[in-house]
Amino acid sequence: MKHFDVIVIGGGHAGAEAAAVAARAGAQTALITMRIDQIGVMSCNPAIGGVGKGHLVREIDALGGVMGKAADQAGIQYRLLNRSKGPAVQGPRAQMDRKLYSKAVQELLIAADNIDFIEGEVVDFKFRDESIAGVILVDGSIYSASAVVLTTGTFLRGMIRIGQEAKPAGRVGSRSSVRLAERMESFGISMKRLKTGTPPRIDGNSINWNRLEPQPGDEEPVMMSFLSECPQVRQVDCAITHTQSKTHQIIRENLHQSAIYGGYFESSGPRYCPSVEDKIVRFPDKPFHQIFLEPEGLDDDTVYPNGISTSLPADIQLRFVRTIAGLEDAVILQPGYAIEYDFVDPRSLYPSLELKSAMGLFLAGQINGTTGYEEAAGQGLVAGLNAARHAAGKEAILFSRSKSYIGVMIDDLVTKGVSEPYRMFTSRAEYRLSLRADNADQRMTPFGQKLGIVNDNRVQKLKTKNEEIRQGKKLLNSFSLTPAIAQRFDIRMGNGTGRRTGEELLSVTGVNMKRLQQIWPDLIQIEPVIADQIERDAMYVNYLGRQQRDADSLKREERRQLPKTVNYNNIAGLSGELKEKLCRIQPRTLGQARRIEGMTPSALALLLAESRREEARIKI
Ligand code: FAD
Repeated sequence: MKHFDVIVIGGGHAGAEAAAVAARAGAQTALITMRIDQIGVMSCNPAIGGVGKGHLVREIDALGGVMGKAADQAGIQYRLLNRSKGPAVQGPRAQMDRKLYSKAVQELLIAADNIDFIEGEVVDFKFRDESIAGVILVDGSIYSASAVVLTTGTFLRGMIRIGQEAKPAGRVGSRSSVRLAERMESFGISMKRLKTGTPPRIDGNSINWNRLEPQPGDEEPVMMSFLSECPQVRQVDCAITHTQSKTHQIIRENLHQSAIYGGYFESSGPRYCPSVEDKIVRFPDKPFHQIFLEPEGLDDDTVYPNGISTSLPADIQLRFVRTIAGLEDAVILQPGYAIEYDFVDPRSLYPSLELKSAMGLFLAGQINGTTGYEEAAGQGLVAGLNAARHAAGKEAILFSRSKSYIGVMIDDLVTKGVSEPYRMFTSRAEYRLSLRADNADQRMTPFGQKLGIVNDNRVQKLKTKNEEIRQGKKLLNSFSLTPAIAQRFDIRMGNGTGRRTGEELLSVTGVNMKRLQQIWPDLIQIEPVIADQIERDAMYVNYLGRQQRDADSLKREERRQLPKTVNYNNIAGLSGELKEKLCRIQPRTLGQARRIEGMTPSALALLLAESRREEARIKI
């Protein structure tokens, strides 16, 4: 029987990252998956990144992971989301050539010479006392291991539904994993069901593109990996279209036939990635919904219509799709569908992602109740790293909320659990001003270096960047202005302030590098990417103290009683989701409110302010 330090079950986004990091940490690793040629397959949308998700990709990359590098091998359109907003909430996103992406993931894994690839279905585990000792495949073969990472995504008792038709599957074209789900249940851990869905795929040759508004990528693409310089393949446009009242009418009239609305599912779906049926029911007054038509590849005519995920019967899908501008003659290559699957309550896990009831067994990805490739990959990295350390007899590495989005995600999962698929948002982080996508290398690479999971090239690149930033700041700080002279340049520093250096001036509203370069042309020597980074750091410098005070104050006020008279519906700025949950749960203390699933630090700050106001009102 062959022995491995770490066995990873599953070759999706969590599995790929888990196997890669375990190998980087020096573990002899096996990746066992149902189909080797499907390692790195994107089950749903052909895109990586976005707001919150892009932050995760950058952190994974800064720790030497595969996702960012693979994305840059396959990126066919780059867009920095929220470009007009502050850098903390800007998220890099790239549209993928689906085939190139999985090819790049496979090549990156093959390049690690300590990963064995085994094709097969795992149906059982082997234990020695309370600890995991290996896995058993459906053909009876056994592999022994010191640690196992389970990343089976939507496959555990997966059931696909299109209208009233149901079929067991892990995703379209793949069988589901039933025996393993039953085995997991026998551990006595809490397992529940969740659902998600995907839109129909359309033949690009049947789309009337000239009727549609094109959506090009950014002129200056922002790469997903810190190691990449520019896109590797041809760039393409997407297009934008919208649903019409006729589309809504067809969907509304046929809701009873939808797998989601016909009462065929009992589980919850992704609130933040709703089906088109959901949108029409939840927002009945909205006259139209936006759809992005995204090509799935350079040599593939398939188009992914982002925004119309559905589980209506195939004939109804065709009818409503053909009411949409540009899609009048659309040919559907594969109907949309919904899938329901088992997931494990993530509160059964330690923050290392090890299952509390089975030593050495780590869980990552959609199996833990999340949705999205990036969330899966982030967990894969933590689980794979800790599995390798477990195998080597080393202590677990925990990721903190104050240092990374990965830490925020894991803390949310293991403390609050999930009742609907969890996805990352910047609002989930209390330290979001410091946890930016652009500084993920500065935050994480030194940590990765200490753990021995990043290579010298990456360390050297960061060293050069840090040195250039240091030199840039030195140059900036060699110039300064008094308030009176600043005024001559239309820069208002405020009364009573003294002389300010170039770096300090960058935190004054309306001042940026470009402005300072006009005053001091020598600053043009600073490389544009370095100048951008200095500008972003300086922009938030005055707010970091406040960010820390807010986080401390929320921690201190954990036991504060929330007055029974607080009307949550009247708190401006609270999302509808949180208002509904707060009204239903009626938390007694701020600490209890903090543990409500979906609660964000900014929402907690609003609650704290409202409860103080309400107390003052009561006293009067
Ligand atoms: P997966 O990518 O699902 O990989 C699971 C892997 O485990 C596969 O390689 C499989 O072969 C392997 N496996 C399973 N069982 C076994 C076994 N017993 N033995 C060996 N190998 C096994 N995300 C979004 O963000 N937005 C969406 O709108 C969205 N819609 C989706 C719609 C559908 C229909 C599906 C299927 C997924 C959707 N997702 C969506 C989710 C996204 O695809 C997942 O979050 C992501 O792929 C999860 O990655 P993972 O690594 O956890 O699992």
